[in-house]
Amino acid sequence: MQHLSQLPNGVPTQLFIGGKWRDSSDNKVIEVIDPATSELLAKVSSASAGDADQAVEAAYNSQSDWEKVPPRERGEILRRAFELMTENSEEISRLMVLENGKAIADARSETAYAAEFFRWYSEEAVRLTGIVQHAPSGSNRIMVLRQAIGVAVLITPWNFPAAMATRKIGPALAAGCSIVLKPASDTPLTALYLAKLLTKAGVPEGVVNVIPSNRSSEVVPGMLHDPRVRKLSFTGSTEVGRSLLREASDCIINCSMELGGNAPFIVFDDADIDAAIEGAMVAKMRNGGEACTAANRFYVHEKIASEFTSRLAKQMAALKVGPGLEDGVQLGPLINAQAREKVGSLVGNAVNSGAKVELGAEEIKGKGFFYKATVLRDVPAGAQLLNEEIFGPVAPIVSFSSEDEVIELANATEFGLVSYLYTGNLKRGLRVAEALGSGMVGLNRGLVSDPAAPFGGVKQSGIGREGGHEGVLEYTESKYIATSW
Ligand code: NAD
Repeated sequence: MQHLSQLPNGVPTQLFIGGKWRDSSDNKVIEVIDPATSELLAKVSSASAGDADQAVEAAYNSQSDWEKVPPRERGEILRRAFELMTENSEEISRLMVLENGKAIADARSETAYAAEFFRWYSEEAVRLTGIVQHAPSGSNRIMVLRQAIGVAVLITPWNFPAAMATRKIGPALAAGCSIVLKPASDTPLTALYLAKLLTKAGVPEGVVNVIPSNRSSEVVPGMLHDPRVRKLSFTGSTEVGRSLLREASDCIINCSMELGGNAPFIVFDDADIDAAIEGAMVAKMRNGGEACTAANRFYVHEKIASEFTSRLAKQMAALKVGPGLEDGVQLGPLINAQAREKVGSLVGNAVNSGAKVELGAEEIKGKGFFYKATVLRDVPAGAQLLNEEIFGPVAPIVSFSSEDEVIELANATEFGLVSYLYTGNLKRGLRVAEALGSGMVGLNRGLVSDPAAPFGGVKQSGIGREGGHEGVLEYTESKYIATSW
């Protein structure tokens, strides 16, 4: 496959199946575009349904040996993978900037965060405990073991090319599952690079298979109708997640789904405004707003709405925009032309329905897919961007007057991934956190992600959790043995 000059040497561009690098069976390719220039970055092999079948076969053939590898040894391989990611962090970060466009500072944070999943799950590999108890009748014992669930298909989005992969690979390998990873076609290179590191770390042939493809709707259903596959872990949009749940139902495949969000960011009038602005910048602008956890709607108490709006706009206006690898850049381009059009159309719809532009609200002409940091105020309740993911650097602000009103506004969505709230009153903070319909809450914090914590959503934001101890349990089944002695 073609390897263009901007790519660091040694970044693989072929499929990785059964421990071998190879082109796709019909020689089709994905053209990976640099979002900062709109130019071709690399041509990567695009797996066919037949290639996916071979990847499942390789995973299936290695499954029973891999689950017998002592947990300590599986943990040590993951630990080496953590160390290799850390040693190569600059190269991984630069690679992510090239294929995803994010600012290098965001890429460095992501690499560190992504590597932590290998470290955390290297530790969890030896902590898969079971249960032994007396049956209530006293007639026998109840033993419960945790066993690897089997071959896992992992599907990841483009917005965090390293972290979304390691958040799945780490617990799957720790639990003793072989995997087939299908990364997003916009950003396949980071996943292929990770496969190379995992091999170097000692993962046996066939245990990790990586099959980029721009023919997802042909390739993925085949794997989900294959009885050798026992697990699907998907991160992506709710729309695609919903269709994969349907596909997975025929073979009753166990599904973990990390889907879209529509996070409210609530600021009460008793909040520390400096802290709220700092948190808002992280919750909104980390990864240029292209995060499932991105603050999508700001609800600010009417007494402080005007101050908050002008201060947030001032900070957003000061961000340096440009290609992610340039010194000091804080806001890179969006992933592709379609994503930028969507952001533009959501902003246009809000303005047409009465929102006022405080900052930005236009794309940046020229090379790449840049959009200005944008703040909108007085956004009416019916505006489309309050009800769906913006996935861009746009902060819509709505004012509210009472606690009950803001809880109702925040919960009026089919999504339920994360909510943020700022208040100086601890009682109110905990009360509102409990009332919010989301799997996670940032209480006086604009960042919740942590490899040691259970990440995930309620309602149509997902099923299951990644990270923490819960993350590894998603790759296991309970085996109950009734016995007497
Ligand atoms: P997407 O749903 O378009 O794609 C996700 C993955 O599914 C990609 O690998 C893609 O190639 C694949 N895919 C797309 N269509 C498919 C089909 N018909 N059949 C099988 N596979 C298919 O999402 P995206 O645009 O890559 O990512 C952005 C979305 O991901 C946002 O909605 C975001 O909120 C969500 N996300 C969620 C989390 C979370 O943890 N909850 C984290 C990151 C991103």
